[in-house]
Amino acid sequence: MTPAVAEPGAMAPIALREFHPFEAAGERYVYMVPSAGVFKLDDPSAAVIDALSTGPRMPDDIVGELSGRFPEERLRETLQELAGIKAVGTADAPREEVVNDLPPEGFPLTTMVLNVTNKCNLACTYCYEYGEDKIVDTTFGDQPKFMLDETARDSVEFLLKESGDLPVAHLTFFGGETLLNFPVLQDTVAYARRRGAEVGKRIEFSLTTNATLLRPDIIEWLAENEIGVTVSIDGPKEMQDRMRVFHSGRGSYETVQPKIKELLRKHRTRPIGARVTLTRENLDIRRIYEHLREDMGFWEIGFAPVTTDSARDYALEDEGLDDMLGQFEELAFEWLEAAVENEHHGFSNVKDTLEEIHKGVSKAYPCGAGLGLLGVSTAGEVSLCHRFAGSDDHGFGTVTDGIDREQQREFLEDHHIKNKTDCHTCWARPICSGGCYHESQVRNGSTTGPNLHFCTWVRSWTHTCLEIYGELAERNPEFLARFDA
Ligand code: SF4
Ligand code: SF4
Repeated sequence: MTPAVAEPGAMAPIALREFHPFEAAGERYVYMVPSAGVFKLDDPSAAVIDALSTGPRMPDDIVGELSGRFPEERLRETLQELAGIKAVGTADAPREEVVNDLPPEGFPLTTMVLNVTNKCNLACTYCYEYGEDKIVDTTFGDQPKFMLDETARDSVEFLLKESGDLPVAHLTFFGGETLLNFPVLQDTVAYARRRGAEVGKRIEFSLTTNATLLRPDIIEWLAENEIGVTVSIDGPKEMQDRMRVFHSGRGSYETVQPKIKELLRKHRTRPIGARVTLTRENLDIRRIYEHLREDMGFWEIGFAPVTTDSARDYALEDEGLDDMLGQFEELAFEWLEAAVENEHHGFSNVKDTLEEIHKGVSKAYPCGAGLGLLGVSTAGEVSLCHRFAGSDDHGFGTVTDGIDREQQREFLEDHHIKNKTDCHTCWARPICSGGCYHESQVRNGSTTGPNLHFCTWVRSWTHTCLEIYGELAERNPEFLARFDA
């Protein structure tokens, strides 16, 4: 129940609580932490917050100070409303604890990422599977290079069972280069469709590819089976060829460009996205975006900084991250102008964060890994996510034995935001929750700690997304309803 902070004669001083203020379209807003709600401040609310920003006060004193500008009754209502959303509270109230809300036992699996091969026909410098920062020895380790039909079918059964009562489950194919194991892909999709229909569950398919092996019959199959495709690509020729090279060292642009064009021309049943890895040497985001969206015709383009040890010369460090932020902001505001006109803009990073803000997401974990999402290695071992597939230290059972629920419980207990004390005072924690486990493993040698090297970046980017959210809420609120779907 909201404490009655505003009654005349209330004896306890009040103070500001935890929130992040921002402005958009000439209005003032607060992003509430940890409830993750966004509230617009009317004039009396803004005045109360400004008055309290200099320190705690008695409610009667605030009302007295502001009574020349607003009626007393309105000010008391405002104080009560601000207490209701926890923007203000009694000055001696302890800081709100991060809630220890472990997910329920047997949390259903929503997405299974199947590593159908760990072999690749490219040798990208920054590859997390084969490069200097690899976690699993995919070259000399005991993982099979290709997943067998039988393992893939067992994995489908695993997904059907572990997704419980969910009406829809997602199956994503990953590699290595996924299309190197095309026969298993075909068999698995056909099998999953049949078994899904038998048990009354819809399965949605997607895959990630480097596009080098696309052929007309594969493209036709992808379109017919409504398989979502994400292409890993770094941009125009000179950018793509810098790191995305064949084993011979030859760049891959000339090979993939015509194949991608064909894919985009023929596969119209699902939107096709591009995923770009940003490095110190590949950071002209505007140019990459324009090339992939306008010259190539991708529907969406998502950018991710390379996950690597800070010692690598292609690692993105402070200056690079600042540069990336500036360019992200530029594209984000361009996205906003398109959204105001109900037009599509392909910069997916901003859309993803806006959706989380709109839904009031407050995460106890940075992503679905280990929770609703699990990876499966070529041998059928279940792991934290595709980036940990086959790692002995990050396993959660096998597709034949099922999820090791005890191990999963332990992981969720250890990785909950309640243990990331550095994050407890950070206003961006509902969205960030410490960041990617793989990044943390590569940088710090463990998945448990938060990625503190990214904090300034994360907070600045989240602030920008809040501004965009507020602008859109003022200028075209109907657009936000798309995120309700
Ligand atoms: S990792 Fe940094 S930005 Fe993310 S929640 Fe923790 S303190 Fe905040
Ligand atoms: S741990 Fe990192 S790579 Fe794995 S699903 Fe989460 S964000 Fe993605």
